[in-house]
Amino acid sequence: MTKTKNKLTILGSGTSTGIPMVGCKCSVCNSPIKENYRLRTSIHLQTSGGRSIIVDTTPDLRHQLLLNKINKIDLAFITHDHADHTHGIDDLRPLTFPPNGKSIPIYTYDKCVAQLTKKFSYIFRPNDQLPNIGGGIPRLSLETVNIGVKNTILGEEFEFLLLKHGHTETLGIIHQKMAYIIDCNELTKDQITYLRDKELDLLILDCVTNREHKTHLWQDRSFEYISQIRPKECGLIHMNHSLDHDQLKSDAKKTFSFPVYPTFDSQILYY
Ligand SMILES: [Zn+2]
Ligand SMILES: [Zn+2]
Repeated sequence: MTKTKNKLTILGSGTSTGIPMVGCKCSVCNSPIKENYRLRTSIHLQTSGGRSIIVDTTPDLRHQLLLNKINKIDLAFITHDHADHTHGIDDLRPLTFPPNGKSIPIYTYDKCVAQLTKKFSYIFRPNDQLPNIGGGIPRLSLETVNIGVKNTILGEEFEFLLLKHGHTETLGIIHQKMAYIIDCNELTKDQITYLRDKELDLLILDCVTNREHKTHLWQDRSFEYISQIRPKECGLIHMNHSLDHDQLKSDAKKTFSFPVYPTFDSQILYY
């Protein structure tokens, strides 16, 4: 019997502004191709073990949940505290409403737990506030992951890397033969070796633009890392308006003998 696969949905493939960027007249922002329409970067995992997992709570989260018909979330990861990855956090609220909704645990690395506690004190330090008598706050808890070792979370095994993202760090997530590596400007030699030794079926990799960038991987560097990591398949993500879908797809096709492609919103992948 073949093993059931994990389903990965790209909820958003775009950079922090989303594409089209408000007010921009460039050809990508005005492209008629649906793949160039990009919500903020996020993925959803439906695991073979039956868990529904979201990575990041973007400002587009409500729209992403509705579009992709996600009605239940067992756990969330937050990769880092930047606005394009966190400020939709309140859109988790309806999923925590009684009678069916329950509190959702949010997992991230230690420093990010502290940053999120401060940023969203009304959620994570409710006793510091006046009692809430209307509206409501999402029922969420913050949990810390351990870096560099196996973590078992709700019966699923994960490993994590801390990636350099300018002056801050981003959580890299490895689940079975899939690695999700976003919002980083470089990988260490050890991280590349570690990812290569995983013999990944699927790598989802940061690729923000087509020229050197201080806080993200850009096309040349992403391509260099893909050659070194050698996954079976690689989807690029977090693209800005310098990267046209068809152009990037054709550049990747010319460079690699295995599938490498720009992801697009609502694309479904399996691993
Ligand atoms: Zn543009
Ligand atoms: Zn980002």
